[in-house]
Amino acid sequence: MARFVRTRRRFLELAGSGAVVGIAGCLGGGGGQQETETETTTEAMDDDHDEERPEGVSAEEFEHGPVPEAYRTALSQANEQRDPDDLFTKEAVKFQEADEAVEAGLTEAGRDCGNCAEYIPDKNGDGFGACAKVEGYVDPEDWCSLWESIEEAEAEAEEEAGGDGDETASVA
Ligand code: SF4
Repeated sequence: MARFVRTRRRFLELAGSGAVVGIAGCLGGGGGQQETETETTTEAMDDDHDEERPEGVSAEEFEHGPVPEAYRTALSQANEQRDPDDLFTKEAVKFQEADEAVEAGLTEAGRDCGNCAEYIPDKNGDGFGACAKVEGYVDPEDWCSLWESIEEAEAEAEEEAGGDGDETASVA
């Protein structure tokens, strides 16, 4: 049975203590974070803590990628294609467990990666998926500030697709 670990709580502790570096500073921008194997910060996270992640995946990989090949350029559940060269860091988008985000007043209950337009569901049975916008492994019970409902994303896509030459568009 696959073994997962919760890394988020530990991540937040590190972020709070200043141990995590490299805040991307690109919140609200167009991405621009490259998925690389930087050797930063996570020696502390490699301490045996209550981290869980897929077997054989380092803390660094878990946070920053690269993710397995099957996810690298996969489509999200709202058909957005992942670009491994244009991703946000988890730090930049307040990535954390959805429950904790609700407790912190950052979002409302019921919003998590599992029902986000950008989520790429688990493909290999390890319990983790990936994200079309954010680097590293993603648990469906996580959340970040880029959360968008699938319905909303699909409606936007339809609107864009139907926008050209559609004379029935409302004029308000
Ligand atoms: S909530 Fe954020 S990390 Fe999770 S799938 Fe959506 S965009 Fe990606």
